[in-house]
Amino acid sequence: MPRILQADVDEVKARTNIADIIGERVALKSAGVGSLKGLCPFHDEKSPSFHVRQQVGYYHCFGCGESGDVYSFLREMDHVSFTEAVERLAGRIGYTLHYEDGGSAPETSGRSRLYAANTAAAEFFRAQLLTADAEAGRRFLGERGFDAGAAAHFGVGFAPRGWDGMLKALSAQGFTREELSTAGLVSTGQRGVYDRFRGRLVWPIRDVSGQTIGFGARKLFDDDNGPKYLNTPETPIYKKAQVLYGLDLAKRDIARGDPRRVVVVEGYTDVMACHLAGLTTAIATCGTAFGTEHIKVLRRVMGDDNASGEVVFTFDGDEAGQKAALRAFTEDDRFNAQTFVAVAPDGLDPCDLRLQRGDAAVRRLMDTKQPMFEFAIDRKLGGFDLSTVEGRVGALRAAAPIVAEIRDQLLRPGYERVLARRLGMDPTEVRSEVERAARGGSTPLHTRREVPQVDPTTGASGIAP
Ligand SMILES: [Zn+2]
Repeated sequence: MPRILQADVDEVKARTNIADIIGERVALKSAGVGSLKGLCPFHDEKSPSFHVRQQVGYYHCFGCGESGDVYSFLREMDHVSFTEAVERLAGRIGYTLHYEDGGSAPETSGRSRLYAANTAAAEFFRAQLLTADAEAGRRFLGERGFDAGAAAHFGVGFAPRGWDGMLKALSAQGFTREELSTAGLVSTGQRGVYDRFRGRLVWPIRDVSGQTIGFGARKLFDDDNGPKYLNTPETPIYKKAQVLYGLDLAKRDIARGDPRRVVVVEGYTDVMACHLAGLTTAIATCGTAFGTEHIKVLRRVMGDDNASGEVVFTFDGDEAGQKAALRAFTEDDRFNAQTFVAVAPDGLDPCDLRLQRGDAAVRRLMDTKQPMFEFAIDRKLGGFDLSTVEGRVGALRAAAPIVAEIRDQLLRPGYERVLARRLGMDPTEVRSEVERAARGGSTPLHTRREVPQVDPTTGASGIAP
């Protein structure tokens, strides 16, 4: 592979501000003259020991020892080759590189082809949204309050119904079937290779630096037997456990916010609705529950070393989603951000809320936020009749495991008191039930039998679940 001329390597580096490149992935703040710091992206830490010196073009982590220049940062962070790192940065500033044998750009590593294929596919889908065949797609957007400008802002596109529309278009641009397959853009079956996304509205999913790495696609037609939402499968550049839709658009406002706030919503249209309504720090997971890997990504963007950051979930009735999020946050006790839940009136999701009550109603959603543990406890208590002793005891048993999962040693006694207050019970009684839940999880059988639940319709009694 031809080498890039050293003079060009140096020139691109000199013209690139290392703090801009690192700042796209890590929230940086001033650490004295000529120095910035943030949470190290190469090891887990709670307080920032990752330093960047712009003038010198150098970074160094005092925690794990990682250090280097802007090229080594990209190689470590994005797993690209040296050549590709130089080419990426040259592309950013519009600088034309020269190679040692006088040749032009060589065939670069596989990953860059995957980025290129996804970018080309996004352009193809975007153009398709304007065709006559995409009427159903435009109607879907229009019915949800998104005009052509909104669609363009988020790069929404349309995957045509045929089997090989995208395949042909990208093949004509020089992409091989192997590249398209590795990028997750085509599938292989008895018919051979065919488009993965067909007859669907398509949202490009970008990484934190804004590169398209995959797609989320919603079905539009009744004769489509596939799932309602279909995503890019795992690829070398698309990792669903880490991907957060909208983060590329949200990251700047997240880092600038005071407090730094991330709003977690459930779908692509919810992210769109929030951003258009002015909640520009909204993001969503893509076809998976919010997990610990997502938290790591968020921690880096939020730079949450000062415990002032907020994560606000807007989920409604989806208990599985709530549980997953709650678990993720209880497991990650180093996450200093405060975690909240905001539920819209009538349980509307942000997209419907904006449609029915306007932009201001979406922004006001933040006024209703409630600490996540409090929310989870209230949800549990909601299923019981607290006017009866049986109801209160049942509610205590149901809610105690939630409090037992709180690892923060200051937070837990506080929530024991909250629970005691809500139930009108003695705090020591609540504490012993929480401790029991923390030890073994379940209440001993002899105490469970004391509270038979009677089914009012049949009169049959059973043991509380
Ligand atoms: Zn480090």
